[in-house]
Amino acid sequence: MPGCFGVARLLGPSYSLRCVVFHHISAAESPLTTGMNVSTTPGNFEAALRFLTTYYSPVRLEDVLAEPDGRRLPPRAVLVTFDDAYASVVEVAAPLCFKYGVPAVFFVTAAFLDNRGLAPDNLVCYVANMRGMETIKAAARTVRPTESLELRSLSDVFGGFFPSITLAEREAFLEALRRMGGINERRLAEETGPYLTTKQLCALASFDFEIGNHTYSHVHCRTLSPGDFGPQIDRNKAELEARSGKKVRSFSQPYGSAKDLTPELAEHLKKSGHEAVFLSESVANRRGADPFHLDRVNPRVDDDGTFFLDLEVLPRLRAGRNRLFRGSGLMRTGLNLSSGVN
Ligand SMILES: [Zn+2]
Repeated sequence: MPGCFGVARLLGPSYSLRCVVFHHISAAESPLTTGMNVSTTPGNFEAALRFLTTYYSPVRLEDVLAEPDGRRLPPRAVLVTFDDAYASVVEVAAPLCFKYGVPAVFFVTAAFLDNRGLAPDNLVCYVANMRGMETIKAAARTVRPTESLELRSLSDVFGGFFPSITLAEREAFLEALRRMGGINERRLAEETGPYLTTKQLCALASFDFEIGNHTYSHVHCRTLSPGDFGPQIDRNKAELEARSGKKVRSFSQPYGSAKDLTPELAEHLKKSGHEAVFLSESVANRRGADPFHLDRVNPRVDDDGTFFLDLEVLPRLRAGRNRLFRGSGLMRTGLNLSSGVN
């Protein structure tokens, strides 16, 4: 392995901080998650923690905030994070993190705590799996009747359709989806219990895990007007702090794209007490990286080799590609280094 790290370093600048993001730690998929590429099996997750604790130095958010330029972080510092507050993170992931002494940040959307409803992605996924993409397309046509919409996959919905519509249109689409799919969302959420309860959130906070902001209802932030920052950013922070009793000081961008980190949002996050912002474009963070623009890797952890490739090799290639082609319009013509949707 040491030789492999040496070879990876030749591909690009050394990382100052590696960040990884996981979502749902589960041996089985359900109609709420099948096709979303968010699940990691407990066995693979434990193997990933063994790999990280053998070759890396897991750090806390506090360490990152204290060393914004990364110079005095330990060698191969890595920050483990989780998005979307699946119940599995407290049932499976947190005990394993505790066992291996790995600190973690859990990014939570307060709207779905206690399974009061379904996150939009899980609702869309459920309808696609149980009713088919035709129902998704029909619901989309109710908000954009004149456009020919290419909605062949969940990626088309999350990566193309959602960011192109307003928050009000998204609500209208989700309402049409519930109606056309014959879904009683609240009952489905209560019966399947996919997300954390307030009690579980408090348990995470009491074990010294960090709780972070992931917007109130999991939105593409490029679609927010400044008037939406209060209901989506500030409300989520305040609710999470009130429920967990801990300060929320970091933000993770739903869907992970830098396009959603608008200057207005960055300004608002700074003013509202956030100290770090995380994306998920799977690009290496160089030394001196801006704490308001820290990238995370969404790794495949099927085996150590794949994990190494996703954590050490591809992020450096993407960083190199971005430096070479930034602004030239050639970003998509070179190596296929897609980091996927999450
Ligand atoms: Zn998310």
